[in-house]
Amino acid sequence: MAKSAEYYSKAKELIPGGVDSPVRAFGAVGGDPLFFKSAKGAYLESVEGDQYLDFVMSWGPGVLGHANEEVVKAVQDQAATAFSFGMSCPLELELAQLMNETIKGLEMVRFVSSGTEATMSAIRLARGATGKDKLIKFEGCYHGHSDGLLVKAGSGVSTFGESSSAGVPEAYVSCTLPAIYNDVESVEAQLKRGDVAAIILEPVAGNMGLIQPNPGFLKKLRELCDQYDALLIFDEVMCGFRVHETTAAALYDVQPDLFCFGKVIGGGLPVGAFGGRADLMKQLAPLGPVYQAGTLSGNPLAMRAGIETINIFLRDKVWQKTADLGASLNKKVQALIAGRDDVSFVQLGSMFTLFFRGGDLPTNMEEVGACDFERFGRFFNFMLQQGMLLPPSQYEANFLSVAHSEADLQRYVDALETFLNQDK
Ligand code: PMP
Repeated sequence: MAKSAEYYSKAKELIPGGVDSPVRAFGAVGGDPLFFKSAKGAYLESVEGDQYLDFVMSWGPGVLGHANEEVVKAVQDQAATAFSFGMSCPLELELAQLMNETIKGLEMVRFVSSGTEATMSAIRLARGATGKDKLIKFEGCYHGHSDGLLVKAGSGVSTFGESSSAGVPEAYVSCTLPAIYNDVESVEAQLKRGDVAAIILEPVAGNMGLIQPNPGFLKKLRELCDQYDALLIFDEVMCGFRVHETTAAALYDVQPDLFCFGKVIGGGLPVGAFGGRADLMKQLAPLGPVYQAGTLSGNPLAMRAGIETINIFLRDKVWQKTADLGASLNKKVQALIAGRDDVSFVQLGSMFTLFFRGGDLPTNMEEVGACDFERFGRFFNFMLQQGMLLPPSQYEANFLSVAHSEADLQRYVDALETFLNQDK
């Protein structure tokens, strides 16, 4: 088989940058990207045949580990029956029922094929239901790549944002009002401008490294939404089933009006979902005036993978096992870095981030910006040489699965120790 470098050089001729999603190009850490051919448990195998201990886990879906045998069998059985109907099938109802019974406040749900679609649709619904146009979005939270969400703070928050991508019309940008994570005042300042349909956020952020909400922050957002007649949307695409057995909403006891899901609920197949209050969800077509649709929405293969994954997750108490692994890693790393002023480590459930900055943990995007990104790049490449794949950016969270072992965690800690000793 050809090597990653050969695939990459050919891919660059046919696929922009050689990748179908920019972070895969390893641009933030240097070095050429790897190409993979198989995955099992906590390990990936590159096209060269090298094994990598995986801390990306497909950016979150792989909570059971790669290629869980029961999920594989279920998907194979489904594939032999039907790939796609383009019509309704009982599996949609089964996954909807499972999620409705598991997730408090998810009265109704609709399935889509990605996290991007889930947030885009939830926002349209919020606008349709409130009759208002503006959306508050936090710096550093990522909700997919739809136009109105590729907006970052301009010069000074409380003003309008700027697009973070070419090709986003100014008219879209003007509908997105940036705010600072964990900063209630920045939110209220935007709400006071009026016309806000919704606040969207990751209730535990995983797209600026792992950042937890400060105590009371989510409750305050709930109050503000009620006061200003705006809807609260929790984007749990990443943190759902990872920071709690169900949702961050349950962990912090704050009820959003709408949720967005993805990743774990598809077990690695392309799935997203949005849902919440039935009175809102009933405003979607065909019942109501808010249009939303999808050829592959509720796809039977994806539904089957999701049903199997969530059932195993609940049956085998996977949440508790992954949270225990996370806590164990946290203990080991905190012991290793105690007294250091150049790194800090945070873990919640099966997610964690090592920040290359000392002092208190960062609480927002600007504070993450103070990390030593070059050193992160050296750490990433050092770990890769040791046979461990980390997310190739300081701005990403790492993921554990139930297939990781204590020995796997020890490998991470030992390599980190070696790195910190040699990279001063
Ligand atoms: N929301 C969050 C919180 C995410 O982390 C992501 C993707 N990492 C998305 C939305 C977008 O999901 P997708 O890549 O499936 O479109």
